[in-house]
Amino acid sequence: MLSFWERKSFTHYDIIIIGSGIVGLSTAASILEKYPNKKVLILERGVFPTGASTKNAGFACFGSLSEIVSDLKKSSEDEVISLVERRWKGLQILRKRLGDEKINYLNYGGYELMFEENLNLLNKIDEVNKLLKPIFQENVYEVKDEKITQFGFDRDKVKSIVFNQFEAQIDTGKMMSALLKHVASLGATVITGADVKSINNDSLEVILANDIKFSANKIAICTNAFSQQFLPDEFIEPGRGQVLVTKPIKNLKFKGVFHFDEGFYYFRNFEDRVVFGGGRNIDMQNETTTELLTTPLIMDNLKEKLNSIILPNQEFEIEHSWSGIMAFGKTKKPILKRVSENIYAGVRLGGMGVALGSLLGEELSEMINND
Ligand SMILES: Cc1cc2nc3c(=O)[nH]c(=O)nc-3n(C[C@H](O)[C@H](O)[C@H](O)COP(=O)(O)OP(=O)(O)OC[C@H]3O[C@@H](n4cnc5c(N)ncnc54)[C@H](O)[C@@H]3O)c2cc1C
Repeated sequence: MLSFWERKSFTHYDIIIIGSGIVGLSTAASILEKYPNKKVLILERGVFPTGASTKNAGFACFGSLSEIVSDLKKSSEDEVISLVERRWKGLQILRKRLGDEKINYLNYGGYELMFEENLNLLNKIDEVNKLLKPIFQENVYEVKDEKITQFGFDRDKVKSIVFNQFEAQIDTGKMMSALLKHVASLGATVITGADVKSINNDSLEVILANDIKFSANKIAICTNAFSQQFLPDEFIEPGRGQVLVTKPIKNLKFKGVFHFDEGFYYFRNFEDRVVFGGGRNIDMQNETTTELLTTPLIMDNLKEKLNSIILPNQEFEIEHSWSGIMAFGKTKKPILKRVSENIYAGVRLGGMGVALGSLLGEELSEMINND
């Protein structure tokens, strides 16, 4: 049972944010940067953020050529351009807020590996560059086949490489740790180990699994793949992403972020290691889950691709592997909405939430502030 003092000083806030991933923390930052006197509480069920934001690969990206061509088949040109623009804007907010040094932002560029079956995509480069020109003012994609040998990839499999000068990489752990420090410095309270079981729409109470209740004037749901319990009418499908990291590799030949297979596979250097993830598409049914596990099927697939495509003829050892959970909908557009009079949601970030997260937080904070 809470004491009189606890009830008086610990349980009521102007705004309660559920979830301390990049969206929850960015929402808090945007609110407090504008209204420093607001009392903001962030409730996180993990010991630290435990969804996607601390588990991802740290690509500062906005879409590879094959992803954009694929998106153009399912969505209108305007929708595709708008999503790329929003990811790009989100990255600029993140960089400005925390500074490139604190997030270890390194602009080594991005590359997409093209196999025999993808070569027809090269004909689309001019068309996609033209579509994205209003955002970047320059061409985004260009062929750089000389990199195949330079980077040490298997020449028989990798037939072409498309370079993107605007892509970069960050240190995911440093970014989230800097964001946590930033919101704390602005005066937000973050309580971890706080598993929210339900929200009372009428009393605006947030009830934890241990029955402790907090109340607020406004509540923001930022629980991404874990949001179905709070938003039963929305379509939110979890998608697990499995990742591995090698031990340091002597004379690693490449730097940058790399994609193939419409973004289903992604790898990068982290210093002289390789971080490699993906492969969800070979076991879609089992990877549609919120369970934070790795599986032999996906891990073996990643190791096989490392051996045969990325690091052929090079010795490497796997140091560690893990997984994180993304959220997908029928389209790539995230959910940003007022759920009821004083309850809001910014969820379903998909596979590029590092980019989109800061902008979605800003948009969510504007919605909350303006009502
Ligand atoms: C393996 C992997 C690789 C990725 N790589 C990239 C990449 O390179 N670049 C990129 O842009 N994006 C990448 N992403 C996507 C990106 O990480 C996500 O889109 C983004 O982090 C989503 O942020 P979020 O704040 O919405 O969700 P999350 O980070 O999942 O945050 C939600 C938080 O809510 C908490 N929570 C959930 N339920 C409750 C509850 N009931 N009570 C209290 N707290 C709760 C969770 O513990 C979690 O901390 C990747 C994702 C994964 C999984």
